[in-house]
Amino acid sequence: MSEPAEDDDIDCRAASHLLSAAQDAPLPPDDERRLLAHLTACSMCRNVQGQLGVLRDALRKLGRGD
Ligand SMILES: [Zn+2]
Repeated sequence: MSEPAEDDDIDCRAASHLLSAAQDAPLPPDDERRLLAHLTACSMCRNVQGQLGVLRDALRKLGRGD
């Protein structure tokens, strides 16, 4: 087993930045992997992700003029 790389350990600030970036464009695989690893461990950021998902869904409905 290999030791976890310190580089993979992002904090909540970095995670929220990646979540915001992911709204605009798909994340690079490395960033996505780090973000998912953080979301697995951090319920607070999972909550943020859920809110962004709801927000994006709402914006999509507005865009359709529905
Ligand atoms: Zn977090």
